[in-house]
Amino acid sequence: MVDYIGIGEIRRLVRSIGTGEFIARLAAEIEDDYRRWGEFEKSARLASHSPVGVIELMPITDGRLYSFKYVNGHPKNTAAGLLTVTAFGVLAEVETGYPLLLSELTVTTALRTAAMSPLAARWMAREDSRVMALIGNGAQSEFQAIGFHRMIGIRELRLFDVDPRATAKLERNLRGMPELRGLEVVRTGSAAEACRGADIVTTVTADKRNAVILTPPMVRPGMHLNAVGGDCPGKTELHPGILRMPQARVVVEYEPQSRLEGEIQQMAPDFRVTEFADVVRGMAPGRAAHDEVTIFDSVGFALEDYSALRFLHQLLREERSGRRQIDIVPELRDPKDLFGETVGTGAVPQRLHRSA
Ligand code: NAD
Repeated sequence: MVDYIGIGEIRRLVRSIGTGEFIARLAAEIEDDYRRWGEFEKSARLASHSPVGVIELMPITDGRLYSFKYVNGHPKNTAAGLLTVTAFGVLAEVETGYPLLLSELTVTTALRTAAMSPLAARWMAREDSRVMALIGNGAQSEFQAIGFHRMIGIRELRLFDVDPRATAKLERNLRGMPELRGLEVVRTGSAAEACRGADIVTTVTADKRNAVILTPPMVRPGMHLNAVGGDCPGKTELHPGILRMPQARVVVEYEPQSRLEGEIQQMAPDFRVTEFADVVRGMAPGRAAHDEVTIFDSVGFALEDYSALRFLHQLLREERSGRRQIDIVPELRDPKDLFGETVGTGAVPQRLHRSA
């Protein structure tokens, strides 16, 4: 039997811990895993592009556990009432190759991205950062707001989206959350207005093109940019002039993947970047001066999903009861009699269980 987490289970797990606490605990797991960067067998994700979106597979292993995520990105989906990003994934043990956990990863992707973003900001943003612009107020945005409030101590959020209904939805969802008490939320009329006075700017927009959400005049010395939405070839958010600023320092997750998918796809192959793993391992600074413009060029890396799946599996194992499982792998008395014990005429039904 394989452990299973669907939308009901992830809701229960997150609510039992609290969203902010869940994000903070997941961020600690991600940081621990980045510290053991050398132990992972890494590769850029395998992407299948179409004119309207992308479907990707993201595998990784540390030799003990193996994980993969299936994820899509279809910016036009919301117009048809569908999510831009959906995902699911598997955690397996390397020793037997058996899957341990099959999990939804749509909500979990939002949670792990909302853990990774403030984790990077902890190493890169100025310590006195209290004001954040949040540009792109769709599915990921509440999670980002909660993560930054909880982990960085953001006190003012400046919102902008080209779709005012998205901003109204974000405001509505944030209002009245006890864990966000003390957070001031300000609606603005443009990306430039949102950036005014911000210490951190998070861009989390969806558009399958080289969009220009931020231009150099919007960027002030000392700012930290958390560029989340540009995560695919031909899909970026920052004007290349920002990356070329003399005070700019760019940190990526896994350089071979980010060269293809990140903001740095707009730059020459020898454009200098730092991998986040080097920052957490003390091999490179996340920020070297107060007036540097630090840029976390986020695309989402398989290690973060590995950490999330491992964390979820751990939470499940800590629960005494109510664990949901599915029979995705047959349990045989004779492992050589797959036919006889499954589809053969003498097949005995597998033992009864709660199905997912
Ligand atoms: P979504 O479609 O729910 O929301 C995107 C929002 O961006 C929409 O409300 C849209 O109106 C807004 N938008 C589009 N163009 C804009 C512009 N020019 N200015 C301001 N707002 C604009 O999508 P989502 O699930 O929130 O994901 C957002 C983006 O983040 C996607 O591109 C997705 O691929 C990416 N993403 C990245 C990571 C990562 O790890 N880096 C993880 C998850 C999602």
